[in-house]
Amino acid sequence: MIEEADIQAVADTIRSGWLTMGSEVAAFEQEFAQRLGASHAVAVNSCTAALHLGLEAMGLKAGDEVIVPAMTFTATAEVICYFGAKPVFVDIQADTHCMDPELLQAALTSRTRAIMPVHYAGQPADMDEIMAFAHAHDLRVIEDAAHALPARYHGQMIGTIGDITAYSFYATKTLAVGEGGMAVTHNEAWAERMQIMRLHGMSRDAWRRNLRGGSWDYEVLAPGFKYNMTDPAAAMGRVQLQRLDTMAALRRRIDQKYRTLLDPDLLECLEQKSDRESAYHLFVIKLRHGAAAERNKLITDLEEEGIRVSVHFRPLPLHPAYAGLTTSPQSYAVARQVWERMMSLPIWPQMTDEMVERVAHTVNRLAAKV
Ligand SMILES: *Cc1c(COP(=O)(O)O)cnc(C)c1O
Repeated sequence: MIEEADIQAVADTIRSGWLTMGSEVAAFEQEFAQRLGASHAVAVNSCTAALHLGLEAMGLKAGDEVIVPAMTFTATAEVICYFGAKPVFVDIQADTHCMDPELLQAALTSRTRAIMPVHYAGQPADMDEIMAFAHAHDLRVIEDAAHALPARYHGQMIGTIGDITAYSFYATKTLAVGEGGMAVTHNEAWAERMQIMRLHGMSRDAWRRNLRGGSWDYEVLAPGFKYNMTDPAAAMGRVQLQRLDTMAALRRRIDQKYRTLLDPDLLECLEQKSDRESAYHLFVIKLRHGAAAERNKLITDLEEEGIRVSVHFRPLPLHPAYAGLTTSPQSYAVARQVWERMMSLPIWPQMTDEMVERVAHTVNRLAAKV
């Protein structure tokens, strides 16, 4: 949610005359890393860019394989394809929609280099099991935390567990600047590589060249990318970072209210694990009775009542782009089964009790009829 303070921060930044990556980005990176308890944060223009740079820093090569959950946004898998490497899909758990760590062994080959867990809807995946498997097989772990700011697993902040963690500040996410992202890591060499590669592979960015005593000269160390964040976006991010806990508490309250109001005979919610804290990015429901036809009808009926829902996400192997990659329907059987029955209800921090009640009662009434 945009507040007056966000607008003020952006306006001040524009008035400063420095429009691209500068002191606001540097301050946002520092404050973000500090907030999570991470060593390094590298600001970019999307989570997709953060995931791409993360894999690049780790040295992913053509022909390598990376394990991803079957139910996620295309960005998680597309960045693997950028390298000529292969996303290998594993099925999800029916109760959390996170990657099922029991299935990692079957997905492992001699070409596997990394695992990319997604903290679905904001609730952390089974990180103990995933990290243990990665250590046992010398794999890197790069977390897609696009939904999971802020979230905790066994008391530990997401962003401090895997090797690299990627965040999204896209318009709909829990911290939203329009377009933006962040990669955080404990590894200094990877952080430096990501800093260089986000701006054309240049040894010194424009802000640092502009500082007093900064040199006008730079070298291109590698053919890089144009992935940097801008100062107006960072200024907005800094303001929202200060309200992160307040906004998360508001989301949590809405989540709990939905759970008490929705009819458990008709609708199933995601399981909330007591050993982790969600960022409550999405509120996902599944029809207990029925499949795709009933789900589709419920979505249409809700739209007629002015309630807009969405579906996160059609399993990737069910998209033409990835269909050819998957050898067995078994590798996404659960994802497919839950996808047919599910949808995401509106959830945003400023949603009033009356709004939540109206949505929940309308969903109950219409779900009884499909
Ligand atoms: C939104 C999202 C992304 C992509 O974020 P961008 O900042 O738009 O690149 C990646 N993964 C998941 C799971 C997402 O929901």
